[in-house]
Parts: sequence; structure tokens; C-alpha cells
Amino acid sequence: MLNIALFGPPGAGKGTQSKLLIEKYKLTYIATGDILRQEIAQGTPLGMEAKEIIEKGGLVSDEIIVQIIENKIQMNPDANGILFDGFPRTVVQAYILEGLLLKMNSSLLCMLSLEVPRETLISRMLERGKVSGRSDDKEEVIEIRLKEYEEKTIPVASFYDHKKKFYPINGVGKVDEVFKRLTKVIEKNLENVRQNIVLFGPPGAGKGTQAKQLAEKYNLVYISTGELMRNEIDCGTEMGKIAKKYMDAGDIVPDEIAIRLIETKIKMHPQAKGFIFKGYPSTIVQAYILDGLLMRLDTSVTCMLEISSTTLQSMKRLSARAKSSNARVYDMDPEIIIHRLEVYEKKSALVAEYFQKQNKFASISGEGTTDEVFERLSKTVEKVFKNVR
Ligand code: AMP
Repeated sequence: MLNIALFGPPGAGKGTQSKLLIEKYKLTYIATGDILRQEIAQGTPLGMEAKEIIEKGGLVSDEIIVQIIENKIQMNPDANGILFDGFPRTVVQAYILEGLLLKMNSSLLCMLSLEVPRETLISRMLERGKVSGRSDDKEEVIEIRLKEYEEKTIPVASFYDHKKKFYPINGVGKVDEVFKRLTKVIEKNLENVRQNIVLFGPPGAGKGTQAKQLAEKYNLVYISTGELMRNEIDCGTEMGKIAKKYMDAGDIVPDEIAIRLIETKIKMHPQAKGFIFKGYPSTIVQAYILDGLLMRLDTSVTCMLEISSTTLQSMKRLSARAKSSNARVYDMDPEIIIHRLEVYEKKSALVAEYFQKQNKFASISGEGTTDEVFERLSKTVEKVFKNVR
């Protein structure tokens, strides 16, 4: 998700710029002021409560704001991203925003602040008042709104400045000039967004081959928990010794081991553009773990791609691998192969569902040659990456 907050005093041009931004980046628009005015126009209880405060230039309670934001988010569950205009306006609302985005397993890309001198703001709002019919666009109320902004809203800037997500932008100039300044900052931030892919599918679906190629093509760091565990086994470490017993039997290795291996691997690549995970998560517990691990890096899973494969196809592939130099201990015994396929069948539905619920799941047919499957995967990866932009 691409989430942006447009910040700045009343009259800075947030509404005008928002219209252009939502069109360019296909975002859901949440403008608390607009929603409140609609509520007032419809005469809802919430609108009635807000009306008097707005007319006096004060700030509506955080309690009301959290409700209208939540409603709007629930109405747009498939949003590609959200543009917040006029929210967060208090430090409490900044915490609310963090919580709401966390609930969606997402975060704010950046807060863009339109900086405009006080006199310009006042004259812009007075001009707007002549046509907008907004009861708060008159001199006495404007003064109060600016005072509220200075006292209650400016502290929000330092909240995001601490997170290195705050960008002051000159809001004086032609609409398209200001827009260019905004998009420049967004593009720069997007370049730094990590894209993380999970490659999923039954044993023998060809995940390893495909994941390595995808890693190379899209400049992602390849993380295969199986490979990391085999390294530990080859090096004869304590973790390797424990992992071996489970792996040879075709069972899932205890979660503590995978967590440590993934954490170490991620730390080795602080500049990574993103990661591609192969063979992880393979259980619902691991899905939560991976989300937790990535959240600590202020990133998340972009998409889980499943390579679907019939049992027959998987059996054929695994038995071919058993005869190759790449053979694994657990490829040799048909009973273990069947056990691994059974474990997958039993555990995979919940994992797939976990990502489906977040609209982060795509299934690709594993039929055909390696190149054909790669072509299908690449197309989906590109679509998914483009959606984030
Ligand atoms: P705006 O359209 O953003 O200029 O907002 C108009 C008025 O709606 C403000 O002066 C406030 O009274 C109220 N309002 C809008 N957004 C918020 C918010 N996030 N928190 C509190 N009050 C708000």
C-alpha cells in the first residue's frame, strides 16, 4: 500500500493537490474536513456534534475523527493506498493513524507538508470563502483555525520528523509546480520501498529454481530457509544438528531456528531492495512470524505467489531430483515424499488464506517448462510491483 499524509495549515492547497495525487497514484482519498461537511449536510448525529465546533474554527474530537476514518477505511478494503488530507491534526491522531495502518499491516510512506506564509493563507481562504460558501472561511474563524493549527497540529510534524518521514515542501507557486515538488519526494521515497515476495507451493513445484531467477531479475535477496538450514548442517553447527533430524524426516523444523537464520540473513543485507522468501512461511505461525520480522524493518510482504502443482506433477519432479546430483535425503524415500506433500496439504490452506485476506495472494500455474512458469511469475511480480507505485 502507498499511504501518504498531506499536511499543512488551512488554505495551504491540500485539497487541490490531493485531487491530482489521488489520480496519479490511484489512491483512496480520506479528507476528514470533507467527510465532516458531508455529515453536516446530511444532518447525521455526528455531523450535528461537529457543526458548531467547525463553525467556530476549533478541532473536532479525536473520538469522532477515529470513527469517520475507520468507516472510510472499511468501505475501501481493496485500496491500493490512502491519501490522508487534514488528518492527523493532533499528536493523538498521529498515534491513531499508526495504529490503523498497523492493523492493515501497512505504514505511512511519508508526510508531505505544504508550507505557505500566513498572509498568503489568509488571502487564499478569504478568496475561497467568496465561492465555497464555507462558513469557516471568514476572517475571525480563519484566525482561530490558524491558531489551532499552530498549537495542536504543528507538533504532529515532529512526530513524523523523528521517524524521518516528514518533508516540508514549498506550497507557493502554480498548482502544477507544487504538484511536481510533491511527486518528486514521493518518487524518491518509493525508490526506497522494499518489495518482498514469498514464493509458495508444494514440494516439487519448482520454487527454488524460480525464486533464484526472480531474485536476480528483480534485484531481491534470496532467502531459502531450507538452504540456510542445509548450510548449518554442512557446517556442523548446533542449529544444524537439531534441524537435520526434522528435515530428514520431511518435517517442519522448530520455528526458533528459522527465525534466527532469517534474522541473520536479513541483517547481512541492510541495503536490500527487497527479499524473496522460498519455503517460508509454510505454516500459519510462520506467516505471523514473518510479518513480525518484516515489521521491525518497517516493511511487509508485498505478495505471496503460489506455484500451483498437482500431486502427480510434484511426485514426478521430486523423483527426477532424487536421481540428480541435487538430490536431498528426503527425496529418496517415496514415503517421506508423500509425508512432505501431506504436511503441505494440511498446513498450506491457512497460510494462503492469511495472505488472501490481505489481498496479497496470487496463484500461478506450475505447468509447463521452467521458462514458461518463470514468464508467468515475472508478469505477476511486475503487476504487483506496479500496484505499489
Ligand atoms: P478542512 O476541510 O481540513 O480545512 O477542515 C475543516 C474543519 O473540520 C476543521 O477546521 C476542523 O474543525 C474539522 N476537522 C477536519 N479534520 C479534522 C481532524 N483531523 N481533527 C479535528 N478536526 C478536524
